[in-house]
Amino acid sequence: MQVLLVEDDDTIASALAEALARERFVVTRAGSGGEALAAAPADVVLLDLGLPDMDGLDVCRRLRERSAATAIIVITARGEEADRVIGLELGADDYLVKPFGFRELLARIRAVTRRALPGGTEPVDADTEPAAGPIVAGCLLVDPRTHTVDMCGTPVELTPREFELLAYLAREPFTVHRRNRIIEDVWDPNWYGPTRTLDVHVAALRKKLGDPNVIETVRGVGFRLIPPDASGRTEG
Ligand code: CA
Repeated sequence: MQVLLVEDDDTIASALAEALARERFVVTRAGSGGEALAAAPADVVLLDLGLPDMDGLDVCRRLRERSAATAIIVITARGEEADRVIGLELGADDYLVKPFGFRELLARIRAVTRRALPGGTEPVDADTEPAAGPIVAGCLLVDPRTHTVDMCGTPVELTPREFELLAYLAREPFTVHRRNRIIEDVWDPNWYGPTRTLDVHVAALRKKLGDPNVIETVRGVGFRLIPPDASGRTEG
């Protein structure tokens, strides 16, 4: 798995790069926002927000514009909720607040990629991953094998976390999922981030699917997926 490590602090970057290489990640380092944007695409970007040449949030937005498939984990020393939420709104999949442990970082990488780590290490949550066939809900097709979404004939590009959220809801159409269960299952049982993160992702999904009615808000409870019909309108 290719990791792009964007960090201007050489001490931190060297230690992280070494530790990641030991876990058999292929690590590319970037010491500035400019270098990060010039680097080859990676599976995972670890992005420090405090960079010498550009605002890290700006780098995040531009990386996301370029690729929906890259998982972006924002690393911030600031720790303020506003920065985290803005990072997630700009397309980050998760964030870590410095200082963090290496095990925690590995867990976050696993969570956002939902893939086996190099070297054959099993993902922690392998047992929650259902046997992956395409999920069909009305004319919405979500295929975990190819990580593709087709909305009634139109391909839709989603970030890894948006994809997980949509697949989660589409597996049980019409079922109301409680907010805290969604956050536990799609994010992390130990998610201490802002619950607004879920709303940000739902809003992004509605926009990208082109039909806000596909994901229905059940006020005070959570969300449910209403399968769209072939004419592009939602049933029920
Ligand atoms: Ca920095």
